[in-house]
Amino acid sequence: MSRPLWFAANWKMNLGPDEARAYFKTFRARYHPREQCEVWFFPPAVSLEAAAHAARERADLVVGAQDIHWEPKGAFTGAVSGPLVAQAGATATLIGHSERRHVFGETDEDTRKKVAAALAAGLAPMLCVGETLAEREAGNTLAVVTRQLAGALGGLDGGKLGQITTAYEPVWAIGTGRNATPRDAAQVHREIRAWLAARGMAQARVVYGGSVNLKNVAELLAEPELDGVLVGGASLDPASWAELVQTGAA
Ligand code: PEP
Repeated sequence: MSRPLWFAANWKMNLGPDEARAYFKTFRARYHPREQCEVWFFPPAVSLEAAAHAARERADLVVGAQDIHWEPKGAFTGAVSGPLVAQAGATATLIGHSERRHVFGETDEDTRKKVAAALAAGLAPMLCVGETLAEREAGNTLAVVTRQLAGALGGLDGGKLGQITTAYEPVWAIGTGRNATPRDAAQVHREIRAWLAARGMAQARVVYGGSVNLKNVAELLAEPELDGVLVGGASLDPASWAELVQTGAA
């Protein structure tokens, strides 16, 4: 029997509202619901409403924000909050993506406040964790990942933890064309699962991200530790993203 799988598309700073509508037209024509498969989309904030509308009546398609501010509203020019993205149709949000951490200086404490804000707004958080190349080479991968988990999720009880999906995304693999091997990813996924299990989350969802593409998705998902994939570059074309999901789910 096949296991549940999550496929998540991070569009980053690409695809405005018109492009989002065209994207979903192609994607929906090429990808039909498959048992136990969910496909998540993280468009830029300006395209959330168009994407959520285009994904309507398909329970297997989830639309989420790429980031939220921890405050629900106020004087934070340029930011979007949980309640605002929920009003635009989002039901999930990424938190702590490596570009937020390393380009915009987001801290573990910021991720903690954002997880709490997401849960308060009824959004399913997908928390991204992962080490840099220097941290991996220094043998610090597990220390960094568990520090990020503790920073973001430390105070949550088992019930709240149950709403979290964790994405293991080694920074050196994002957008570089160099993916982690299934074995390397599985080792970290096991540690993430153990960390969550020790805090009451028995059935953790842990997906892998970092240069996943049509060629490597089947090999990565043959590893049972991976509950799915979070994909940037290879999710931008709707036809090849549909093919990638189908290949990974086969
Ligand atoms: C990402 O943005 O989360 C990501 C994994 O990007 P890419 O697939 O392009 O490496």
